Amino acid sequence: MNHIINNQEEKKTPVNFIHQIIDEDIRNKKHNGTVHTRFPPEPNGYLHIGHAKSICLNFGTAQKYNGLCNLRFDDTNPAKEDVEYVDSIREDVHWLGFDWANREYYASDYFEQIYEYAVKLIAKGKAYVCDLTAEEISINRGTPTKAGIESPYRNRTIDENILLFQEMRAGKYKDGEKVLRAKIDMASPNMHMRDPVLYRIIHTDHHRTGNKWCIYPMYDFAHGQSDSIENITHSICTLEFEVHRPLYDWFVKELEIFAPQQIEFARLNLTYTIMSKRKLLQLVQEKLVKGWDDPRMPTICGLRRRGYTPESIRNFAEIIGVAKRDNMIDVALLEHCIREDLNKKAQRVMAVLNPLKVIIDNYPDNKTEDTDAINNPEDETMGKRKVPFGKEIFIEREDFMEDPPKNYYRLSVGKEVRLRYAFYIKCLSVVKNSQGEIVEVHCTYDPETKGGSSIDKRKVQGTIHWVSAKDAVDAEIRLYDRLFTKENPDEAEEGKDFKSYLNPDSLKVINGKLEPFLKTAMAGDKFQFERIGYFCADKDSTTNKLIFNRTLTLKDSWAKEEKKNK
Ligand code: ATP
Ligand code: MG
Repeated sequence: MNHIINNQEEKKTPVNFIHQIIDEDIRNKKHNGTVHTRFPPEPNGYLHIGHAKSICLNFGTAQKYNGLCNLRFDDTNPAKEDVEYVDSIREDVHWLGFDWANREYYASDYFEQIYEYAVKLIAKGKAYVCDLTAEEISINRGTPTKAGIESPYRNRTIDENILLFQEMRAGKYKDGEKVLRAKIDMASPNMHMRDPVLYRIIHTDHHRTGNKWCIYPMYDFAHGQSDSIENITHSICTLEFEVHRPLYDWFVKELEIFAPQQIEFARLNLTYTIMSKRKLLQLVQEKLVKGWDDPRMPTICGLRRRGYTPESIRNFAEIIGVAKRDNMIDVALLEHCIREDLNKKAQRVMAVLNPLKVIIDNYPDNKTEDTDAINNPEDETMGKRKVPFGKEIFIEREDFMEDPPKNYYRLSVGKEVRLRYAFYIKCLSVVKNSQGEIVEVHCTYDPETKGGSSIDKRKVQGTIHWVSAKDAVDAEIRLYDRLFTKENPDEAEEGKDFKSYLNPDSLKVINGKLEPFLKTAMAGDKFQFERIGYFCADKDSTTNKLIFNRTLTLKDSWAKEEKKNK
């Protein structure tokens, strides 16, 4: 599993094996050539980037074949599920750009039908009520190499089973007192066939059915049957369900119902990322992040808040393709996809995150003038804007050095640089405070260089960005980095767990000076801060208190790798 796919191999063979199967089915007129898929989340957490892959695959496949895709909530466990999750899942699927029209279904809508299926199995002598505890059942299951032990309740009569199951439904028994099990084969080499539990007693209200039920079907007894009820032609799921398939086939055969075709693919794993809802919930509950939509989370709402676009995620899902074997995708590929999208779309602006004041001594005291700035050199239609320039400006502290090394092309005493879209300036002197820290840099400017070039064509090596001190707006800037320092946080060393590898520097909050245009930024607006990175106005940002999240820096290690490999 440590094999990291850097997508080179998949790019060369963008064949989607699931689509090959469907092409073949259509040729053979299977299901009359129709395609009907579904995305089946359990509403027990927020969706993450792994789910996004599944969403793109299921909805994308339906689109490709002019078919349909349902949204179905697999809500069989009232103890862990909540409407908050249902709402967030709906929002995230829509945001990704997919729609299920009026086909929003719930496994809980089928509880009556699934109950009837269970009764049918009992009536055929294929299911029985068992009084063993969960622990006893587990011990009696045996091991893959050792057959299990048959339950002493296995040979109850059909009539007795029917009665007991009715009583279970009627609430006569406490949680865990009894379960309904399929009667298959305790010696099967497939552990899932060793009389699996079909129904358990849970006296907990369900977010949709209230207190109507106190017995709930197991996921394995609900999922396939729900697919069948909805006439799903291609039931696409992740690899771990491959070993469950014989059980699903057994149900369909014994119940004599429509048989969806199950196709398994490898789930998405990303470096430096955890992808289990249970672990993500832990981060939220233990307040190690600031909620499900913390921009460091791999959740769809977290990525959205971080500044990811739906297009970039869909493109990522397309590039990684679908594999039949487990693998690990380099998170740099996801980052590459969003950089590529924002490079085209995001307006470029100037922002100074670590300000140093520059005073232009020969510039008139109260003058302000506008310079013309290009909104995006990648897209002429985005036009230009005016940026005010004045006697005092801020530049990045890193763009000035008192004792520069030889190849330093930015500002230092005696050197000239170009201010982006404005003038050439030359540094004369610096002012320090009592601690010896530089607090002001004094320069002169050349009025003949407006726009960034000189009449005498003299060369300057460096171009730096700036903002006018009196016009700049202040903003809180949240510099996000990867949440984990370990490539695979799930592979913890002994005595540690995934939380041991949280990156202590995954969030740094600073104050920045932005060009005044950004005052009007609305929540969700995306920008490239020139020379720094991509930033997105946070959902809590207002004109009175601007807040920007760093989506990513400009440096794209992925693009470099790709060039090298060409
Ligand atoms: P988790 O393991 O994160 O808790 P899950 O599989 O329990 O996820 P579900 O709500 O059951 O979550 O998932 C809904 C659908 O999304 C399923 O069809 C599942 O196979 C798919 N899915 C979940 N995680 C991934 C992943 N990492 N990559 C691709 N598909 C995934
Ligand atoms: Mg699941």
